[in-house]
Amino acid sequence: MSIETNLLEIKNEIEQVQVTLVAVSKTKSVEEIKEAYDAGQRIFGENQVQELVEKHPALPQDIFWHMIGHLQTNKVKYIAPFVHLIQSVDSLKLLKEIDKNAKKHNRVIDCLLQIHIAEEESKFGLSHEEVIELLRSGDYQQMQNIRIVGLMGIATNTENGKVIKEEFYELKTFFDGLKISFFKEKDYFNILSMGMSSDYRLAITQGSNMIRLGSGIFGSRANKQ
Ligand SMILES: *Cc1c(COP(=O)(O)O)cnc(C)c1O
Repeated sequence: MSIETNLLEIKNEIEQVQVTLVAVSKTKSVEEIKEAYDAGQRIFGENQVQELVEKHPALPQDIFWHMIGHLQTNKVKYIAPFVHLIQSVDSLKLLKEIDKNAKKHNRVIDCLLQIHIAEEESKFGLSHEEVIELLRSGDYQQMQNIRIVGLMGIATNTENGKVIKEEFYELKTFFDGLKISFFKEKDYFNILSMGMSSDYRLAITQGSNMIRLGSGIFGSRANKQ
C-alpha cells in the first residue's frame, strides 16, 4: 500500500480518540517524507541527529520535527535551533544541555522524559526514582528554557500482549501520579507518548495520546533500527 493510503487509514482510525500521530521517518528518503507531507502529515520523528539535521533544510519548514532517539549531549547544539519536541530525555545532564542551547537561541524547547518500561536492559530511559530525583533537583527548578510536557516509553519487543499492556498501564499510572505531585497547575504536562506500529492500538487502550509509527506508514525498514 502507498504511504498516503497507510496514513489516511491510520488517521481515520485514531480520529475519534484524540491521539497525535508522529510519522517516524528514520532511514526514509526526503521523497518518501514529502509523500507523507503531501498527504497532510506535519509531525515527523527521527532518531539520529545527523539524519534530522540533513532532512530539516530539505523539506518544508512547517514540519514539526521530533527527536525520538537517544541523544548525546554534544549533539544537542545541532538540533536546538529548530527541534519541536525532544521525546528522549533520559538524564538531568542532557536536560541541562538542552536548556543551555535553547537559551542561546532564545527558545523554550519542549521535552518528554523517557521512562524505562521494557524488560530489555538495552532500552534507554529513566527509572521512576530517577525522574522524581530529577524533578526535585535545584538544577531542574532553575531551568528557564525547557519545559517537560510529558513522558515517553518503549514497551518490550514481544508478541506477548499482556506484558506490553502492563508496561503501558504502569507508564500511564506513573504519568497520572507525576501530574498530581509535580505539575498540578501546569496544564502543559499532558503528553503521554507510547505505542509504535506493532502496539499502538494497545497503547491507546491504556491511555496513550501520542503514537510513533514508522513501518506502519512507510513500510518496513531495510536495516532494523
Ligand atoms: C523506530 C521507532 C519507532 C517506530 O517504530 P515502528 O515499529 O517502525 O513503528 C517509534 N519510536 C521510536 C523511539 C523508534 O526508534
